[in-house]
Amino acid sequence: MIKMDSLKVDELLDIHWRWFKKRAEEKIITIETCKTIYEYNLFSFWKWIFEWDEKCVEKLVKASPKELLFFTDENGLFFKKFKQNFFWLKNCFKTVSDKNIEDLFYESFGYENFEDGNYKINEVWNAYEFTKKMNLDICPYCGRQYIFTIGDIKEKNGRPQIDHYFPKDKYPYLSCSLYNFIPSCPLCNHQKGNKYNVVKKDGSIKWVPYPYIDCFEEVVNGKKIEHVKFKTSFKFKNDNSNNTGQLGYKVKIKDVDGVLGEKLINAKEAFHLEDLYEKHEIELDDLFERYRNYSDPKIDEITKLILSTDDAISGRSQDEREFITKKIVAIYVKRAKNIILGLPLGPGEKQYPLRKFKEDTIAQLDKTRKEMLKEQKREIT
Ligand SMILES: [Zn+2]
Repeated sequence: MIKMDSLKVDELLDIHWRWFKKRAEEKIITIETCKTIYEYNLFSFWKWIFEWDEKCVEKLVKASPKELLFFTDENGLFFKKFKQNFFWLKNCFKTVSDKNIEDLFYESFGYENFEDGNYKINEVWNAYEFTKKMNLDICPYCGRQYIFTIGDIKEKNGRPQIDHYFPKDKYPYLSCSLYNFIPSCPLCNHQKGNKYNVVKKDGSIKWVPYPYIDCFEEVVNGKKIEHVKFKTSFKFKNDNSNNTGQLGYKVKIKDVDGVLGEKLINAKEAFHLEDLYEKHEIELDDLFERYRNYSDPKIDEITKLILSTDDAISGRSQDEREFITKKIVAIYVKRAKNIILGLPLGPGEKQYPLRKFKEDTIAQLDKTRKEMLKEQKREIT
């Protein structure tokens, strides 16, 4: 679960609203069979249902994460009013039209036009532009898949899918709210479906983490804060054939500080995270094999090799060399470790697939090795 940059969304709210408003003003909802009674433009359609004015609709479309929670609160005034009017309207429609009010309502909020890019204003704005501007490399839900935006709008496959954090079937009036859009991989979008973040018949609600608020790990004031940790172990054959070969891996995602709580349990269930991570056997085999080759002498060897070819060092006096070397050797040790373990060199804060999973597994191996060395020392003395 990777945190999304809400500052980027804030910058897009105005263009999104301009697009939405223009479309709403131009598009007339026509219900053929009852044209004379129900010929309203979108705003009057909404106004008719909610007695809303433009300001209210703007509030919905530009709603912040906190406001989205307010608009979906089943016990709140807003939702109650929506439901009440919606059912009343539904009944009215039954008598005069065979047009489905749910479809009409969803259609009126224009997500389809946003998605297919077929409604244009003077500025370029659509789902493709949105994912391009968000510039998210990795699926925030699973952290496993690249979700680049490439090509242009004509290439329909050139962008990630957009998941509605609050399902659009249940909350059609939030189907075009910018903060409801989560660019994600097809698998996560599909798996979450309509089962989460909605109130069920028994009144319960299963929340999955909301990438604008929740994440597995974050940096606050330069300090890394971990909310969960991956724990990997070997799975062995356990039959009576005396064949105790390794079968694969077992991956658990552990709650570290209770910040995600129930949301973590639901995320594991919704996205099948542990099952999916266990499937990454090639990466884990590779990592474990590389780790066997990783030792202090090897680090020294590679660090010396990098230093000998560093422009900042060559051609300087011995004193200067020692001074510079001490300063940068720590950086190079980390670099050497990444080289041996096959991790990207210096990704900074940038995400790459399986990043936390791999880093946690390495930390786990480091810890085990340290304990083993301690044990060995104790045995010798
Ligand atoms: Zn995903």
